Amino acid sequence: MRFVVFFCLFCLFAVPVFSQRGPTAVARPGEGAHSLLRRHGLPDARHFQQFLQLNQGRLTAKNGLIAGRTYRLPARGKSAGPAAASASHTPAGSSASVLHAPIFGPKYSRVRVLDRTMRGAVFYLSPGHGGPDPGAVGKYGKHLLAEDEYAYDVTLRLARVLMEHGATVYMLVQDPNDGIRDEQFLKIDRDELTYPRQRIPLNQLARLRQRMVQANQLYARHKGAYQRLLSLHVDSRSQGQKIDVFFYHHANSKAGLRTATNIHRVFTSRYARAQPNRPYSGNVLPRSSLYEVRTSHAPAVFMELGNIHNARDQPRFLLPDNRQALANWIYEGLRADYKGR
Ligand SMILES: [Zn+2]
Repeated sequence: MRFVVFFCLFCLFAVPVFSQRGPTAVARPGEGAHSLLRRHGLPDARHFQQFLQLNQGRLTAKNGLIAGRTYRLPARGKSAGPAAASASHTPAGSSASVLHAPIFGPKYSRVRVLDRTMRGAVFYLSPGHGGPDPGAVGKYGKHLLAEDEYAYDVTLRLARVLMEHGATVYMLVQDPNDGIRDEQFLKIDRDELTYPRQRIPLNQLARLRQRMVQANQLYARHKGAYQRLLSLHVDSRSQGQKIDVFFYHHANSKAGLRTATNIHRVFTSRYARAQPNRPYSGNVLPRSSLYEVRTSHAPAVFMELGNIHNARDQPRFLLPDNRQALANWIYEGLRADYKGR
């Protein structure tokens, strides 16, 4: 079994010249060490340990792979016996379907792949703002609520759900030390990085351009696949208005409109169930002027999931279960979109 799941984190090392001794393999886009090893019939923990030793200094800080780079493989002959034996004692499907993604933090880094519903789909997830730009800053009592931290948490949760269902996911913004957080009040920091490991500039245009260059390069690598870019924000300027949630797409993108509509549909039905006393009013609208929507090669949906300034919206972001629910709803919309493609 192999899973094409991306998690090249924090590429610390420049690409070294590689002298080829023994068996080697080239990492595919989105592939982690475990899946590369499985692809070459080297599935067990011992292979993984040998692989780490053989490729010291060639992996990213979190033992991730860099697509296109050649890696040395453990010799198959030596370990085939014990590996085959241990594999045969493993319940079917269980060992092969766990991914390790340190970006989710220690509590959530183990990701069990539940099914392959989203296999073949590629997502570029862009949490709003980050680095020196906190985005909108709301207030709750004495606490400050930074948009970038809450958008990041929902986006991480979405990434994880997508991975659980076999999708390839690129986090365009990554925070090395904030995994998925279950607190209500998320600490404000400025150390988020743009994929793969770039300091985020303060200038808004430079910041967005930086991540879109990455997304569009990756898009070319996954040519032919179903690909979507999703940008998540929580600063809809709707204070005092009834409108909750916006899904923006490019006016000329039918695929973007369809994806936005599919997510919106889930929100409409879930809100009716979760908050029967509070009418939900979301909108799917064209807004081609948004930089990410305008420049993304992948069909894009820019979401405003509420307004962090708005006391009525704040529980939606403060409660970790609600952040998870938002991620799950987005996933459900994407699943419907992918199925109906
Ligand atoms: Zn924003």
